[in-house]
Amino acid sequence: MNSRIQFSDFNLSKEVGKAIEDMGFEEPSPIQALAIPLIQAGRDVTAQAQTGTGKTAAFGIPVIEKIEPTKRCVQALVLCPTRELCMQIAEEFSNLLAHLPRITVLPVYGGQPIERQLKALHSGVHIVIGTPGRIMDHLDRRTLLLGDVKMVVLDEADQMLDMGFRDDIELILKKIPQERQTLLFSATLPQPIIDISKRFQNKPEFVRVQYAELTVPQIEQCYIEVKEREKLDVLCRLIDLEDPQLAIIFCNTKRRAEELSGKVRARGYRADELHGDMKQSQRDRVMGGFRKGSIDILIATDVAARGIDVDDVDLVINFDVPQDVEYYVHRIGRTGRAGKSGKAVTFVSPRDFTKIHEIQKYAKVQLARMPVPSQSDVAETRIRAMLDKVREAVKAGGLESYVRIIEDESEGDLSTIEIAAALLKVQMELGSSGGQDEQRKQRDDIDFADTGAEVGMVRFFLAVGRMHKVAPKDIVGAIAGETGIPGKAIGAIRILDSYSFVEVPKEHATEVYSIMKERTIRNQPTGIEPAAGGNKPGRR
Ligand code: ADP
Ligand code: MG
Repeated sequence: MNSRIQFSDFNLSKEVGKAIEDMGFEEPSPIQALAIPLIQAGRDVTAQAQTGTGKTAAFGIPVIEKIEPTKRCVQALVLCPTRELCMQIAEEFSNLLAHLPRITVLPVYGGQPIERQLKALHSGVHIVIGTPGRIMDHLDRRTLLLGDVKMVVLDEADQMLDMGFRDDIELILKKIPQERQTLLFSATLPQPIIDISKRFQNKPEFVRVQYAELTVPQIEQCYIEVKEREKLDVLCRLIDLEDPQLAIIFCNTKRRAEELSGKVRARGYRADELHGDMKQSQRDRVMGGFRKGSIDILIATDVAARGIDVDDVDLVINFDVPQDVEYYVHRIGRTGRAGKSGKAVTFVSPRDFTKIHEIQKYAKVQLARMPVPSQSDVAETRIRAMLDKVREAVKAGGLESYVRIIEDESEGDLSTIEIAAALLKVQMELGSSGGQDEQRKQRDDIDFADTGAEVGMVRFFLAVGRMHKVAPKDIVGAIAGETGIPGKAIGAIRILDSYSFVEVPKEHATEVYSIMKERTIRNQPTGIEPAAGGNKPGRR
């Protein structure tokens, strides 16, 4: 699959290796892969990577490995800007030290009673994590001695400088012996940090990760070759085949997300869209539905997806190839979170191939080619899922009354096998398992039976009319434009003062209904409903 660097490549101690495993890290993040070996080799390192890329463990792991537990003195000092960070870093260190109880860590920050810190310092801690101000306090009181420090880390260096800690930092660094390793971690590297590096680091090695997000290890990535106009069909088949709990489908524009959302809903899936122009309250409603499971497909744009924090997404589909490699990494990062497995499928149309090559090159991934799922693939998985359910039902028991019915029935001209096969067939025709078929059934249940339309057509009521300055061409334009059905296919239109009627071919009725429900005609909500029977409209 991939030949990425593994934690086992670092020759870590058993204890640290075990702790990393306990923490659920499967492989080093890119900044860890770059920084850890250099720090292990004793180099001074300046590392730049965005927030959330695992910088703490990037220095934490090699720092811990260099502590000598038998020497009871401060051997490593981590400076960071705030109390919160201090506690977070201390916690990550404690986790990494889970199997090395003899190595002790002390967070030292303002606001905490200094006496407690004094006591702890006195008993001999190995690693001190502190804010520059409080560290200065202890240095002034001579309660913290830095004479044995061999590693010093400036974490979030840019933020520390912004907060005016430059003088403190310089004073602290001057108190630490020259034969030390100086490590600098930061999300950005403005000139003042380069200056600090020049003054206090010894032949530093610069490492930088541009495409920040942790590349998620467990996730399977593939692509399907598909022409633009076949994407919708392939999408639906893929969803039926994969049967995801929660899926996110990415489109490149808000317009495409909206369009796709309507079409996917029209096919009976419980989908909703999320895009950048939505009000917070709308977003909250959609995300609420997604979390609760009343929506299982989210159709989103890159911007809109930025704030999504849901752990159970098991399928990401790139309906459009993302414009930017960074987007790709962000998108697929929506799945496979919290140690769960996930899959990302990218739709690639013939003109997208150069972009896919770029993505593979810069994101350092290999996408496997996946064949277009066929109708029979889908049927097969559905049958298999159904038979699993049958097996469960047999196991659960309580079938006596049903057994009697089948016994009675099979005394006639039907064999048990025939009955079972027919039951399976009927069940398959009803739709697959889970919530989606309820929805699909519901769709079939929408009563277009008697709307007073011509044969093969369905007549809809629209809450727009002459008073809204609506003309036939507005109705044809809106329906054809929004749903993609040809204008020619649209039938009789009758416009009255405050409402209208329109006929559309039966096979498009569901689609028209579900899409137009959320659209406007001449800036009026359509208020579309299947028309009541009788009351035949005139020709247009
Ligand atoms: P940064 O300091 O770069 O903002 P952190 O060190 O706070 O990032 O890490 C962000 C989160 O990622 C933390 O919850 C951390 O435990 C987790 N993490 C770090 N390294 C890995 C890894 N290799 N695999 C999975 N999760 C990791
Ligand atoms: Mg950090």
